[in-house]
Amino acid sequence: MVARVHKDRERSEPVFVSVRQGNEKMIEVLRIGHRPARDKRITTHVCLVSRAFGADSVVVDTADRSVEKTISGVNRRFGGDFRITTGVSWSRHIREFQGTKVHLTMYGASFEDAVVRIPKAAPVLVIVGSTKVPAQVYEMADFNVSVGNQPHSEVAALAMFLDRWFMGKELRRDFGGRLKVIPSARGKKVLDTSEEE
Ligand code: SAM
Repeated sequence: MVARVHKDRERSEPVFVSVRQGNEKMIEVLRIGHRPARDKRITTHVCLVSRAFGADSVVVDTADRSVEKTISGVNRRFGGDFRITTGVSWSRHIREFQGTKVHLTMYGASFEDAVVRIPKAAPVLVIVGSTKVPAQVYEMADFNVSVGNQPHSEVAALAMFLDRWFMGKELRRDFGGRLKVIPSARGKKVLDTSEEE
């Protein structure tokens, strides 16, 4: 049961607050190997984690309107200016990206070491795969980075990487959305800022 909490009009309007500090630049996630028939759910999770954990945008190699619609719906309700593009050539996108390319792979160098070496003052492209990642990706990346050296999931690897990148502050961001979840020990409290008092 969701308790809808009316917004107190006297309180300040919720505003979208960036997690970025000082000269930190944009961070984009590139999801490669998306197969619409099999990967809809996990690619959606890659996008949701990107948005919730501080990335500015996600690019998916294969066109998928339904994933785009899901993410746009979340933006509409929960706020922020997260962008999604699907149907993009991954090789061209990596080649043309103006910034640091970071490929998450179980074979890479430890992320604890890599995160402090990746420049914060340039845009970052974080690349995650689905099935076998083409060898070119390892060569095109500036950093091949592992989150532990066991096989697990692009969703987990991405969440861990972004959390380490932003040092936890991404979780306290106010997205300034129409719906705002009020943390509570029991039940669900959601502030709907569009409702009349
Ligand atoms: N066997 C695949 C390969 O050749 O890379 C890995 C498939 S895995 C299910 C899907 C994606 O999860 C990988 O492409 C990678 O981005 C991410 N991933 C899985 N385990 C990882 C780890 N330990 N560290 C970093 N990323 C990982």
